Amino acid sequence: MLHTIKPTNHGPLGEPMAHAVQACVHCGFCLAACPTYQELGQEMDTPRGRIVLMKEVLEGHLPWAAAQVHVDRCLGCLACEPACPSGVPYRDLISPFRAQAERHFARTPGEKLRRWLAAQTIPYPARFRLALVGAKLGRWLGPLVPAVFRPMLTLAPERVPARVALPPVAPARGERRGRVALLAGCAQQVLDPDINVATIDVLTRNGVEVVVPGTQGCCGGLAWHTGDLRAAQAFARRNLDAFPADVDAILTNAAGCGSAMHEYHLILRGTPDEARADAFRRRVVDVSIFLARLGLREKPRGWGRPMAVAYHDACHLANAQNVRSEPRDLLRAIPGVELREIDNAHLCCGSAGTYNLDQPEIASSLGAQKAQAVLATGAEVVASGNIGCLTQLRAHLARLGSPVRVRHTMQVLRDAYRGSTR
Ligand code: SF4
Ligand code: SF4
Repeated sequence: MLHTIKPTNHGPLGEPMAHAVQACVHCGFCLAACPTYQELGQEMDTPRGRIVLMKEVLEGHLPWAAAQVHVDRCLGCLACEPACPSGVPYRDLISPFRAQAERHFARTPGEKLRRWLAAQTIPYPARFRLALVGAKLGRWLGPLVPAVFRPMLTLAPERVPARVALPPVAPARGERRGRVALLAGCAQQVLDPDINVATIDVLTRNGVEVVVPGTQGCCGGLAWHTGDLRAAQAFARRNLDAFPADVDAILTNAAGCGSAMHEYHLILRGTPDEARADAFRRRVVDVSIFLARLGLREKPRGWGRPMAVAYHDACHLANAQNVRSEPRDLLRAIPGVELREIDNAHLCCGSAGTYNLDQPEIASSLGAQKAQAVLATGAEVVASGNIGCLTQLRAHLARLGSPVRVRHTMQVLRDAYRGSTR
């Protein structure tokens, strides 16, 4: 019986969850697309298996504990959505389910502390910067650090870039063709602040004025994807208030942030802010879409030589936002660029927000496979549109001793305008 979830039993998120469950016809076409099925080879770690588990729990036929390990292992990569011929909106089930489940799932004190630390640092750039400095000390302490925290240490970069202050408004160069507001991102500002600098450079060069609202905050994605609905709602409301109405679009340059903002209507479902959130999310677009639609006014000059560039599809761009061709088109617009595709491009790199911290073995296996696939392209540069993927690729390519440079699509474009390869 697929129709016995009572939406009213599960609050405002009950209805979208029930709809997603009912849409699944159990055909199994999604199995081949699912990275955890590829890694673990068992039905309960497939989209179909998880849908059945979540349905049984929501209907009260199984305890919450029966679903925990398999729901925790889901990357939220949404590779199952484009693979599904029935159009099951898996995203309407997994995050709302986690929001219900978190108070029922049993967590060890170490897990609780690790999740709390991540939630209290990553969304806040100043705290996150301090945490990365602390991670250096942790690495020095080595085996003295409890095992539950070690993934946090191995992922922290050796060098934390200097803080970069963004201008509140960056004027368009030449005739103005548009005006946008940019989400600066939280982890991205700390891990690679140059991505925002490059994004603003490319936009203003192409006649776009960029507003960076000072009161903006984290997109709320980390909280939403780890079941902390209340925190996700607070972050969403802050951004609803922070972003101005008199812009052509709200731009994101981090796929995970963009896809979380596209779910503000779910995050705030059943609250007085739902309609506002729905209008807001329709204005959010990835920078690659905005630029590809606008057209590059100034042609990048390239580097005066051929350059092979591999493009890595971030799951939250390709699967969550259906953004595949636009970043590729922008890269192909650079003279000399030979774009190379990565084998098994649909497979997640294993970054997936805090998945690296929560499921380090699966994340590491997927990261190593992705790095090998990048190497196999023979490219000099790998480009992507998400800070999580870039961090994961950097870590795993470095482990292989690879000289492949890992860059955001906007950094490649900016460098091509300047003719530099820094
Ligand atoms: S492909 Fe879609 S309908 Fe088929 S089992 Fe997977 S989620 Fe269900
Ligand atoms: S979101 Fe990704 S990991 Fe989760 S069920 Fe879908 S394909 Fe598998």
